[in-house]
Amino acid sequence: MRLVLVGPPGAGKGTQAQFLAAHYLIPHISTGDIFRANLKAGTPLGEQAKSFMDRGELVPDSVTNEMVKDRLTHEDAKNGFLLDGFPRNVAQAEVLRDILAEKKTPLHAVLEFALGDEEIIARLSSRRTCRDCGGPSVGLDKCPTCGGEVYQREDDKADVIKRRLEVYTEQTAPIIAFYRNADLLISISAVGSVEAITDQAKSALKNVAQ
Ligand code: AMP
Repeated sequence: MRLVLVGPPGAGKGTQAQFLAAHYLIPHISTGDIFRANLKAGTPLGEQAKSFMDRGELVPDSVTNEMVKDRLTHEDAKNGFLLDGFPRNVAQAEVLRDILAEKKTPLHAVLEFALGDEEIIARLSSRRTCRDCGGPSVGLDKCPTCGGEVYQREDDKADVIKRRLEVYTEQTAPIIAFYRNADLLISISAVGSVEAITDQAKSALKNVAQ
């Protein structure tokens, strides 16, 4: 299964991505996670991404596209992958289409998690993230997955959330029409329990030809 998840920040893409990747036995490729891991490790890529991430802006396409192109050549992505947080604009969607066309391995589906603005802000401002595994946590002092220490991401603070939402509306939301036109889009609501949304996602993906 070659799958892309799309949705506003806070829609629960990362959480659902973990479940879906485990279900379909494909790697979960999150560009945000790769950037954060590079930041933590102090690599040049992390340095390049930092100022954009801190402001809630997109890291330039030249940097992001190369990173994804390289990641898709890894052995574990041979039989499919789940992209979370990429593409984030139409230019990236076109680059992804071309990379996959060259390998003759087009996408099977793009799953959209739909969520209203008020719910997004409420979720992001109460979200905490685990320093160890990167997993989300709401209203807990410790990570529910690994027990690690949780913190508020710099970009989950109020002014940056506002900018991330603007960036989503202006730059990312147009990819929904792009994928609808390509007949790849499947939309589900991001409201409900984690389990209910995973079930909805799985049943929506059952009808996708692989
Ligand atoms: P995320 O964890 O997906 O919310 O991503 C966190 C931040 O990483 C974003 O606000 C961007 O600054 C950067 N980022 C992640 N994915 C991309 C992408 N596809 N293109 C550009 N920047 C990205």
